[in-house]
Amino acid sequence: MIAIVKKFEEIKELFGKYVIPSYSRFDIAFERGSGSFLEDVNGKRYLDMGSGIAVCCLGNSHPEIAETICAQSRQLIHTSNLYYHKWQGLLAQQIVGLIGKGKMFFANSGAEANEGLYKLARKFGHDEGRFEILTAFNSFHGRTLAGISATGQDKVKKGFEPMVSGFRHIPFNDIDAAENAISPATVAILIEGIQGEGGITPATANYLIGLRKLCESKKMLLLMDEVQCGYFRTGRFASFQRILEGVQEATGFLPDGVSMAKSIAGGFPMGAFWVREPYTDLLGPGAHASTFGGTPLACSVALKVIEIIKRDKLDENARNVGDYIKGELIRLSQSYPSVIKAVRGLGLIIGIELQEKEKNPAFSSSQKTASSQVTDMLQKEGLLVIPSGAQVIRLLPPLNISKDEAKQGLGIIEKVVSSLK
Ligand SMILES: *Cc1c(COP(=O)(O)O)cnc(C)c1O
Repeated sequence: MIAIVKKFEEIKELFGKYVIPSYSRFDIAFERGSGSFLEDVNGKRYLDMGSGIAVCCLGNSHPEIAETICAQSRQLIHTSNLYYHKWQGLLAQQIVGLIGKGKMFFANSGAEANEGLYKLARKFGHDEGRFEILTAFNSFHGRTLAGISATGQDKVKKGFEPMVSGFRHIPFNDIDAAENAISPATVAILIEGIQGEGGITPATANYLIGLRKLCESKKMLLLMDEVQCGYFRTGRFASFQRILEGVQEATGFLPDGVSMAKSIAGGFPMGAFWVREPYTDLLGPGAHASTFGGTPLACSVALKVIEIIKRDKLDENARNVGDYIKGELIRLSQSYPSVIKAVRGLGLIIGIELQEKEKNPAFSSSQKTASSQVTDMLQKEGLLVIPSGAQVIRLLPPLNISKDEAKQGLGIIEKVVSSLK
């Protein structure tokens, strides 16, 4: 029987003794959650503007998600991909409808979804001896060996060399740099629509259009990692759809592959990638597989997530509440320029870039990075946000956060920001 432990210190002690310390964790242990709120083991309530890193897109413990998990578990959980089942087919149909003509593969995480894109690119270029994938500096593509090789940040690679070969990094939002980096072996370019771990930096419309043309002319695949920025977070299904809104030149724009994960099943583990026609059948029978990929249980939950987002118009909510939050934060940055340097993002993926340490004694007097210092202060006041690098804190609230809740969060942010000026 599993002993029931409750107190924070007891939980932390278990981790110290039995859990590999690969994460640096905040000193909070959660006990339960509901909607935009979480409660820790001491009964303290937090407004959750992190959503478990953009995962709990319908908030915590959404009753319909809980019900779907229960009901589907009673009917059918797993069959393996040796057989067909309707839920995977229906989910693929839904997501293809949201992106464009193509087909889906289902996996279990973002890193695994990206892994499928690397294999797609390698298969595509194989007969010509092309294999190299260009990715951006400050990108993040997951923590597997290929994932850290693809990620344009040294901190994730350190200690794990040699890297998987065939990845090279280019400056983000620089189309000339992309063009100049292409070698005879280059077969694909992979970027995030909005760099999530790299400080919430959106790709510009011109960059996306330029990369599309470049990939067309050099016979390369344009791959997009929408794991964090996608899934309705910007107000459209994919971030590139929002970035390119109203841009005449971009009519009909589609990448060749899109990875997704995080929000896809509202907290139930799942990843997936979409492949555009005519590349949908490059990965033929036996070419790629995942035991747990696309189970009846995961697919049924993901179908429910899409149903609820559409029914409750949560894409519109993400856009409206997101634009409201961003506007208020920009106002705050104008009132407190010694604390906030810039505000970036689209919809409900928003980054607050904090002022450089040297320019603010409240930051320079702390041992911690500005982002973890502010994150700690917000937590004390009952608001959860997520650092993105040393200088940026990001907001990734549930897509169904209300304007009142957003207002509450902004009040806490203003309180902390004003104390740092
Ligand atoms: C989180 C993330 C990943 C990795 O997803 P995991 O599920 O942790 O493997 C990949 N790309 C981006 C942009 C992410 O934010």
